[in-house]
Amino acid sequence: MFIGIDDTDSRERFCTTYLATILYDILKDTYNLNIPKLIRLNPMVKYKTRGNGGVCLEILDNLDKKDKEEIKDIVIKAVEKYSDLSCENTNPGIVFLDKENFKKNREILKNYYREALFNILPLDYAEKVIKKVGGEFIKYKKGYGIIGALGAISSTPPYTYELLAYRERSKWGKKREIDERSVIEMDKKTFPYTFDNYDYENKKILIAPNTPCPVLFGIRGIKIKSLIDAYFMVKGERAERFMIFKTNHGTDVHLRYLKIKDIYPNTGVIVYGYIVEKPKDIEGGHVIFKVSDDTGAIDCVAYEPTKGFRDVIRKLTVGDYIAVYGTVREKPLTINIEKIKVLKLEDIYKLDKKCPYCGGTLKAKGRKVGYKCRKCKKIVGYEEIKKIKVERDIKIGFYEVPGVARRHLSKPIQLIDLIK
Ligand code: ATP
Repeated sequence: MFIGIDDTDSRERFCTTYLATILYDILKDTYNLNIPKLIRLNPMVKYKTRGNGGVCLEILDNLDKKDKEEIKDIVIKAVEKYSDLSCENTNPGIVFLDKENFKKNREILKNYYREALFNILPLDYAEKVIKKVGGEFIKYKKGYGIIGALGAISSTPPYTYELLAYRERSKWGKKREIDERSVIEMDKKTFPYTFDNYDYENKKILIAPNTPCPVLFGIRGIKIKSLIDAYFMVKGERAERFMIFKTNHGTDVHLRYLKIKDIYPNTGVIVYGYIVEKPKDIEGGHVIFKVSDDTGAIDCVAYEPTKGFRDVIRKLTVGDYIAVYGTVREKPLTINIEKIKVLKLEDIYKLDKKCPYCGGTLKAKGRKVGYKCRKCKKIVGYEEIKKIKVERDIKIGFYEVPGVARRHLSKPIQLIDLIK
């Protein structure tokens, strides 16, 4: 039996993963459970609390009617106890789906997962799919949570893992005590099997949230053993408990290749194209350039919070061939860059301002005339001047935003060859 839950927390109270952990701990005394899942869906969903994540618990045993009723009862009670129903934007949803119905409807569910990653889905669409696959749902208030709850149940590989450590109740809302040096050491020792622990450019711990939620820290990685090793390396406040979730963090599953003519708002894309307008700084500290393929052109933006990444973008020029990874903002229609792959660099030249006759310095005399040598006074046409190839200060390869600006779903470069 699969149990999907989403939209239980607010910025001030609780966390859907904490609820999943409590439920897991209750249910595991009676049943065999699979590793719980924490699945992020379309990051462009407007009414998300933080990272648009839903959870899924899976009971592996064959269950009779009485077991199922008992499980539903436990889940409902926990959701009601650990949801911030007083918050206007918290609209919890629970989805139950039997193992047989899950297996029978694998293709429908796979398709739903892709849709929940790439699109903004209406509530009645999720209801229709749940009914079609023989599931059951419970909605609280507006019940938007069932959209993500079904998404969490439906997810498919690739997966990574996250170890979430939770705080003692008395500490909720108080400042977290995490030793920065121990996080850096942990990061170095467990590389490349853990990721997004520390932002070296901005000198910031990435594993701890800033909200008053029950999470002490979360360590992400691709090997469970490395996560447990890492957990014991972090010094500071003691955790009350921890849970390892299977997740889609760091997998880029929210992105897919699209031609520019097919791009639409609030979705994730990978676009291959030539730069047709040079990067320029705009108000707010953002950097923008235009990329074009054989179907159209679109602006791409590296926003101010991407910090040093903007310096990489500033080095690009017209004619460079790149792939842009990012999500599409509606107004104006632009790609918010998460990562780029530089595939081909345009050769750029500067004019040799030395006179080809005497070696004196050339001075521009306007478009029609060309140049004039200050020393021998000869007029030198533009075509006669030697062009010197300029060494580009950027190389072929991937470039990404720093950890502080990274989305949960964005694949860090360190994982490019480790997860396919
Ligand atoms: P947290 O990360 O703290 O759990 P959150 O960022 O996941 O919070 P939620 O409070 O769960 O945010 O709000 C996201 C809402 O969007 C949920 O109701 C979820 O069901 C819904 N949702 C998820 N994916 C989609 C989608 N593709 N289209 C429309 N709604 C979606």
